[in-house]
Formats: sequence, C-alpha cells, structure tokens
Amino acid sequence: MANPAGNRRASLRRTAFEMMVGLLALGATLLVYLSFPSLGAGAEPRAEKVTVDPELLKSATTGNPCTAGEVALTFDDGPGDYTEPILEVLRAYGVKATFFVLGSKVSRRPETIRTAIRDGHLVENHTWDHPHLTDLTPAEIEAQITRTQQALTGAGAPAPTMLRAPFNNQDDTVRAVAAKQGLKLTQWDIDTNDWRGRGSQDIAAAVVAQVRPGSVVLLHDGIQDPSNTLNALPAIIKGIRGLGYCTATLS
Ligand SMILES: [Zn+2]
Repeated sequence: MANPAGNRRASLRRTAFEMMVGLLALGATLLVYLSFPSLGAGAEPRAEKVTVDPELLKSATTGNPCTAGEVALTFDDGPGDYTEPILEVLRAYGVKATFFVLGSKVSRRPETIRTAIRDGHLVENHTWDHPHLTDLTPAEIEAQITRTQQALTGAGAPAPTMLRAPFNNQDDTVRAVAAKQGLKLTQWDIDTNDWRGRGSQDIAAAVVAQVRPGSVVLLHDGIQDPSNTLNALPAIIKGIRGLGYCTATLS
C-alpha cells in the first residue's frame, strides 16, 4: 500500500541528509585551502595575502658581524605573493639582500618594490619576462633590459646597475648589450634549487654546507610556491652567521 505522508517524510529526510553531506564537503574543501594556502597562491594575477608564521620571527636577532666574510642572499623572479613575507623576515633579522626582479611583474606590486628599497635592499634587473636571452636578437635583448629598467624606476626604485640573465643563459652578444646598458652581469655560486620544491631544511643545509667568503646564494621569491624558501630563511641566516659570515647586498 502506498503511504504518501511516509514517502514525503522519507524524501525530506533524504534532502536534509544530502544538504548535510554538501555542507560537510564544502567545509572540508575550505579547511584544505586554509591549511595549504599554497594551493590558492601562485596563480597569477590573483594576489594572495601570505602571512608570516610567528615561529619564523621568534628567535630573530640582528647581530651581523663579518669575522669570516660577506655572503649575499639574492631572490629572483619576483615580485610575487611571497616577496612581502620574505621582506618581513629579512627585516626581523636585519638582513639586506638583493632582488632580481622581472619587469613584467612590477606594475602589479609597485608598493612591494618601494618597501624593498626603503628596507635597504637592492632591486636589480632580471629581464622583462624571463626569456633565454641567447635566443633573442640584440634589439630584443635590449628591450628586455630597458623595459625592466623603466618599470623599476617608474615604481620609484633607483635605476638598476646589475643584470642577472635568466637561467644564466648568456653569450658575447648578451654581454655586449648589458655592457652597453651600463649593467654588470652577475651570477651565483650556491644554487639552492629551491624552485624544484626542495624542503626548507634541505635548502638551508645546502647553503650552510657550501658557504664561503663572498658567496652569492640563489633563492627565489617569484616561483609558483616559494613557501619553503620563506621557511628556510631563519635557518640560512642563523647558520651562516653562526659560521662568522655576515649578510650583505651584492656588489
Ligand atoms: Zn629567474
């Protein structure tokens, strides 16, 4: 025998159950995104506010004696979501660093460029959009450089005096164009491989194991997920200072 009232009750119960499952799924998704902000970050052009874990700043000291020599920390491919948090950590530890910036990213975060300059960092040229420069004509190389110079000075930075070629890809033509623009081509000796998704402890250990007087450390603030780079900074800074090295801008 059909029982319409009973069927209705059963159907209501089913709908309520389905809504609850739906809400639970939504809650779980939100929880995952809140726990792993990197899932949402990095997808340009949407700017994501990244906050610094207070643990990273807890034991920050600014003492920077140079008994063993200077070391330059350098950050490439920004500005991005993680540049401001990286600046916050560097500020807490009294570190002056050098940022090799992509001109095409400057208009989205001119305030970040100004903050870096105000904090005493160097902001230098890493081309407009990260091409292999040896594939380009001299005119194209020149455009990559000058557009970036203009973007940075337009944002309020001093005109860069250094160029870092993407992938360290350079030849006589690239060197000639850079020299014509009055830019010094710079490299590095410690590649942290932070862009390969290496863990923060590995990144810091690589720096501490290889550091020597005058080392230039390659890090990235503008890759898709620089969270391990950010988290590695306290151990890098404390590790090299513990060996008697001071941090300095590139010269
Ligand atoms: Zn790069």
